[in-house]
Amino acid sequence: RESTLVIIKPDAVKKQRIGAILSLYEAHGLVLEEAYICVPERALIEKHYEAHKDKDFYPSLVRFMTSDRVFVMKLSGENAVEVVREINGATDPAKARVCTIRYLYGDSVQFNAVHGSSSPEEAEAELALWFGKDQDE
Ligand code: ATP
Repeated sequence: RESTLVIIKPDAVKKQRIGAILSLYEAHGLVLEEAYICVPERALIEKHYEAHKDKDFYPSLVRFMTSDRVFVMKLSGENAVEVVREINGATDPAKARVCTIRYLYGDSVQFNAVHGSSSPEEAEAELALWFGKDQDE
C-alpha cells in the first residue's frame, strides 16, 4: 500500500472545493489517512518547490502558495501516487482531460487547484516535510 501527499491549493480552498475534491479521491478508492488546514510558512513552500527555484514562475508560485489556506492530505491506496496524478490531470487545466480535478476546478497553470507528489520517492520526502514531527514546532 502506497501513500502520497496532496495539497488542495489556495484557489480551490477559497472556492469551497475541499469536499468535492476529496470526494473524487475517495470515489477512486483512496483513503484519507491524515489531514490539516493551514496557511503555509514561506520556508516550507520554498523547500517543497525547491526543484523550481530557478524558474521564472517561482516567486509568484511561492507568493500564491503562502497567500491563504491550503488543505494538506496524506492519501493511501494501491498505486496512490499514480492514481492521484491521473485524477488531478495535466498541470495546465486547459490541457487536462475531462473529469479530472484540474479540468473541473483549475483556472490556470498557476491556479491549478491541487498538488500531488510525482513519484513514490518524492511522496516519502514530501510526507516527511508536511507531516514530519517538526511540523508543529
Ligand atoms: P504539482 O507539482 O503542483 O502537482 P505538476 O507536477 O503538475 O504540479 P510542476 O511542473 O511540478 O507541475 O509545477 C509545479 C507547480 O508550479 C504547478 O502545479 C503550478 O502551480 C506551477 N507552475 C508550473 N508551471 C508554471 C508556469 N509556467 N507558470 C506558472 N506556474 C507554473
